Amino acid sequence: MSYHCRQCSYRGNRLDERGYCPACGSPDIHIGGRAAVKPPPKPRKRQLVLVIALWVIFAGLLAYKLVS
Ligand SMILES: [Zn+2]
Repeated sequence: MSYHCRQCSYRGNRLDERGYCPACGSPDIHIGGRAAVKPPPKPRKRQLVLVIALWVIFAGLLAYKLVS
């Protein structure tokens, strides 16, 4: 099994006791070419868009109230 750190480009056959990079301590390690730490799932981006849309609507209503 080989490991590849994505933070400091460490390559080697062992990690520290926590399974992190022994060179820089990062958990962002590739194991045998596969990502050990999965990137966060994408659906959150949709939630963020929804929250921003609601804020825009709220700001629009507030501006409308202030103008009228
Ligand atoms: Zn590292």
